[in-house]
Amino acid sequence: MLIWGYSTKLIQGLILPYACSHCETMNLHVYGIKKVFDVFWIPCFPYKTTKTVICNNCGTNYDPDQLGIEAKDIKIKTPLKYFSGLVVFPLLLAGAAILGENAVRHTQEKTQAYLADLQVDDKIIIRQKVDSSFPYSLIKITFVDKEKVAFVFCSYNFSGLKHARKHVRISKNGDYETEEFSLTLDEIKALNIQDIIR
Ligand SMILES: [Zn+2]
Repeated sequence: MLIWGYSTKLIQGLILPYACSHCETMNLHVYGIKKVFDVFWIPCFPYKTTKTVICNNCGTNYDPDQLGIEAKDIKIKTPLKYFSGLVVFPLLLAGAAILGENAVRHTQEKTQAYLADLQVDDKIIIRQKVDSSFPYSLIKITFVDKEKVAFVFCSYNFSGLKHARKHVRISKNGDYETEEFSLTLDEIKALNIQDIIR
């Protein structure tokens, strides 16, 4: 899940050659009020700046127009750190890609371990080519010995691997056909197995 939002940063700019009409000190500063787009609380890029003038001595706020200053003439330099997300995120995405690969490898290792010791009630998700819109089929093992593996098909096919996995989690023992099929263990291993759920 991506968490994003906006935050507001106050950036102090230059000091102005005017006295504050309230406390009469020469301490008027231009401030940029920057809206920054954040992803996971990391500022990614500033997208909007408004300007204001604040007296650092008494805190009085002025509209730059009132002081005869064109807001567009006041340059506020955006600190580089507000762009940090643009640097951090490519690194995070690279990290996520590595995690994804690890997850796939983990599934493959688990699948091999389960295949070496197939058990009744194991659910196997297979990717088949018959129905390209719903390419994931689910079978449930009903019998195993050295010679053969018997199984029943789930009544549904699934459009995605995660849907098939979710169905196994939710349906428990329901939604399987009664007709049994059997294959040898080698034939089972030759199927395009995507995951085994025990
Ligand atoms: Zn003041």
